[in-house]
Amino acid sequence: MASHIVGYPRMGPKRELKFALESFWDGKSSAQELQKLAADLRTSIWKQMADAGIKYIPSNTFSYYDQVLDTTAMLGAVPSRYNWTGGEIGFDTYFSMARGNATVPAMEMTKWFDTNYHFIVPELGPDVKFSYASCKAVDEYKEAKSLGVDTVPVLIGPVTYLLLSKPAKGVEKTFPLLSLLNKILPIYKEVIDDLKAAGASWIQFDEPTLVKDLESHQLEAFTKAYAELESSLSGLNVLIETYFADVPAEAFKTLTALKGVSAFGFDLVRGTKTLDLIKGGFPSGKYLFAGLVDGRNIWSNDLASSLSILQTLEGIVGKDKLVVSTSSSLLHTAVDLINETKLDAEIKSWLAFAAQKVVEVNALAKALAGHKDEAFFSANAEAQASRKSSPRVTNKAVQKAAAALKGSDHRRATNVSARLDAQQKKLNLPILPTTTIGSFPQTIELRRVRREYKAKKISEEEYVNAIKEEISKVIKIQEELDIDVLVHGEPERNDMVEYFGEQLSGFAFTANGWVQSYGSRCVKPPIIYGDVSRPKPMTVFWSTAAQSMTKRPMKGMLTGPVTILNWSFVRNDQPRFETCYQIALAIKDEVEDLEKAGITVIQIDEAALREGLPLRKSEHAFYLDWAVHSFRITNVGVHDTTQIHTHMCYSNFNDIIHSIIDMDADVITIENSRSDEKLLSVFREGVKYGAGIGPGVYDIHSPRIPSTEEIADRITKMLAVLETNILWVNPDCGLKTRKYAEVKPALQNMVAAAKQLRTQL
Ligand code: GLN
Ligand code: ZN
Repeated sequence: MASHIVGYPRMGPKRELKFALESFWDGKSSAQELQKLAADLRTSIWKQMADAGIKYIPSNTFSYYDQVLDTTAMLGAVPSRYNWTGGEIGFDTYFSMARGNATVPAMEMTKWFDTNYHFIVPELGPDVKFSYASCKAVDEYKEAKSLGVDTVPVLIGPVTYLLLSKPAKGVEKTFPLLSLLNKILPIYKEVIDDLKAAGASWIQFDEPTLVKDLESHQLEAFTKAYAELESSLSGLNVLIETYFADVPAEAFKTLTALKGVSAFGFDLVRGTKTLDLIKGGFPSGKYLFAGLVDGRNIWSNDLASSLSILQTLEGIVGKDKLVVSTSSSLLHTAVDLINETKLDAEIKSWLAFAAQKVVEVNALAKALAGHKDEAFFSANAEAQASRKSSPRVTNKAVQKAAAALKGSDHRRATNVSARLDAQQKKLNLPILPTTTIGSFPQTIELRRVRREYKAKKISEEEYVNAIKEEISKVIKIQEELDIDVLVHGEPERNDMVEYFGEQLSGFAFTANGWVQSYGSRCVKPPIIYGDVSRPKPMTVFWSTAAQSMTKRPMKGMLTGPVTILNWSFVRNDQPRFETCYQIALAIKDEVEDLEKAGITVIQIDEAALREGLPLRKSEHAFYLDWAVHSFRITNVGVHDTTQIHTHMCYSNFNDIIHSIIDMDADVITIENSRSDEKLLSVFREGVKYGAGIGPGVYDIHSPRIPSTEEIADRITKMLAVLETNILWVNPDCGLKTRKYAEVKPALQNMVAAAKQLRTQL
């Protein structure tokens, strides 16, 4: 019985790599210092896995930025604009592709499957000259070996690499990326040869695209690629790893028939159907890497239940061919529970971060081999039981209320156009009303005030005064700019999910539970461990204070249930929708309290609604149904005259437009300015949209100040497809990360553009 880890977080237990990278980028430390820190991190990870008893320890899962970019470097697929002249790719070229440089912007970044990790999208065209330009995989293998650890080098598989790429600028959208297979395989062969020469006996190819809905020619590419690699791979044990969902039956057939491959890894946490496929037939003599320890969550494994699954699998593949593994790379979970000194012992006993998961994997492997660590297993069983029965997890009233929601529809009684009329009577807004998305620039001073209040260094009174002063400043600016619907600027919020999580029951927060989001950026998701409820109003105090400072409508500002869910570590002891309904009920209470307190416009942000879309199309409808339902629950109880806004952070919503309409918000503001055409095309194609809509008129991600003409031009384009009386004028997203020197002139031009157009309509 053996154990295996798919991949491990690189940032270090206290984000050491982040700080080293940023210091290097700022010119405050040398490349050697960065390399030294990185090597130390790798050493400690390898040693830790070796000490735990892991047999198949991965290498080349470290990265200075991103594993897909590492593969781009390995293949020498540097876009020509970075002026790379060949040879081994150094930090200069590598970080230029990742982050841009003085003259050339960065390459595009996108989400890694359905995780919150973002990778650098390879740009490939017919004229890319591939070359073996980074020996990182081989170097890491040798480095581990010199430390006495024989590792399994990990490469992103050739087909997944191509399927994650995009056609380079200038080539048709229809450029067949898979046609590049025969150009990249020779380089894979060189790498494989080097790994063999260095002494590797195993190699792992990550091919997670196999869990997606693939067309038959895409599946054929796998067959072709591995047949082509077969002779190079001879003498090696070859593991193909899949993760993040179950492998569809067709893909399972293709995968298990691949030539030259001796082992298959599956995510058995998310891919529950894969278990049936394995039971239905697994090639004899091949290894099964059973991913039973969740790489995407922070809960400790139910060891007894995993062990019984392993025993079933053992009956199918045989004792010597079964390997216990993680469901995916541990990159997507927090690093080490040992650094959580503030979590109480009970909650801690329910958790396992990456370091603890390594131990779990090994304990399972040992148990299956007949060396069960009884003490470890019984402590685990006790923790599982305590989590099931803890009164902190269960709130009967909440469960009852959430259960009562199922089956019903929850829609506001009046249709949207009648509601908009009723609201207009009350709000009396001009056509093309202007607004912003919520946050205003967060200054160092503001962050200091919040920090000091949290640390109890300043009194509640001092804090409240400071925040009120900030709100009043933000209101004044908006009044001077003559914006129609105001915001209070969110100065009291550090993060749009954390702020609510901290005030809701059922949430816990870690001190170091960081997960890499991209490059050196990490997020620290809250942990939802119990039934969610709202002990008391969360935003009413600030919203009413803000409203009292102005005669103009002040938007109440909330984060929606789906976004809170998608940006947290969620419970695995009940379906996601159940947790989402509970959060929806808590937000509903808040919405109604805001309304009672005289707030007439309430924005419920669903920035992350799209992010939760399952990987497989067959599961989209179910997700969208409960997600949209959750949103509607939050505001089903308000009067017609209360205007409900929502906001979304992506423009890519053409495929979910009907769900967005079904959310039945009165007004939606949406990111748009980086892809005008895309968003508008959906309306041009005839989708009827009757609610208010504010496609962002300028990009807040850039410091650039858009001119009045440019904004007016954008609005004119929108007016060609959307009715005048439903169009709103607003930026793409919140202004938190911008400076006032950018925000003021940009908003000034935005208001000027709206006013100019009003006179023409
Ligand atoms: N109201 C939030 C803000 O303006 C929305 C942020 C977001 O959509 N990511 O900051
Ligand atoms: Zn946004």
